[in-house]
Amino acid sequence: MRIDVLTLFPEMFESVINSSIFGRALKAGIFDIRLHNIRDYTLDKHRRTDDYPFGGGAGMVMTPQPLFDCFDAVIGDAQTKPHCIYMSPQGKTLTHDKAAQLSMMDRIVILCGHYEGVDQRVIDTYIDEEISIGDYVLTGGELPAMVMMDCLSRFIPGVLGRSESAHDESFSGGLLEYPQYTRPADFRGQKVPDVLLSGNHAKIDEWRIEESIKKTKEVRPELLEKLGL
Ligand code: SAM
Repeated sequence: MRIDVLTLFPEMFESVINSSIFGRALKAGIFDIRLHNIRDYTLDKHRRTDDYPFGGGAGMVMTPQPLFDCFDAVIGDAQTKPHCIYMSPQGKTLTHDKAAQLSMMDRIVILCGHYEGVDQRVIDTYIDEEISIGDYVLTGGELPAMVMMDCLSRFIPGVLGRSESAHDESFSGGLLEYPQYTRPADFRGQKVPDVLLSGNHAKIDEWRIEESIKKTKEVRPELLEKLGL
């Protein structure tokens, strides 16, 4: 999968994409990630990429010229237009299902905004979809882009150790996951539930489903409603 990221701060991505599971996937060639510095495309003699908003108001807006030129350079050679996403608090919220759907695409382009956001004409011309990572506002789209890339990467075969891992997590069946324990069985007097040590897999599965429902009911009851439970 190829991911092109348009950003004013490409250096923010280096440690995330080169570390841990993501870094391994990159080295294994599962991903082709290309970072494009929007500032490299500005024709402004002071290398500016933002300007005051028409109509007044606080903050600055990312100007269309560097973004149009950057998009044209990145997607100009593509036979079919890649799916272009603008990370934005005004987008639809990223979910498990959305990440799974994006992971099946050959190529996506991600635009990271800054300041008050980008000139609307950029969105109207290039953007297929706006995606938010939650109902709060961050200073830039870089962290949201990394969250989305990490999340979708888990659905790509070969990224995780066991291919089923991404399908056996919170949200995959509509519920939150059950509690997890590892050794030792008794740590400072806190014991692992007996059922997990029993070797009885039917009982373990039953316990896990019950615990999943309990946890979901406690913190995210609306998920149970969605499942009609
Ligand atoms: N003025 C914009 C608004 O009120 O909708 C917010 C701009 S925000 C300060 C700057 C940039 O951060 C946005 O262009 C977007 O790329 C990114 N951003 C901020 N919060 C985000 C979120 N929850 N999800 C995705 N991107 C976000």
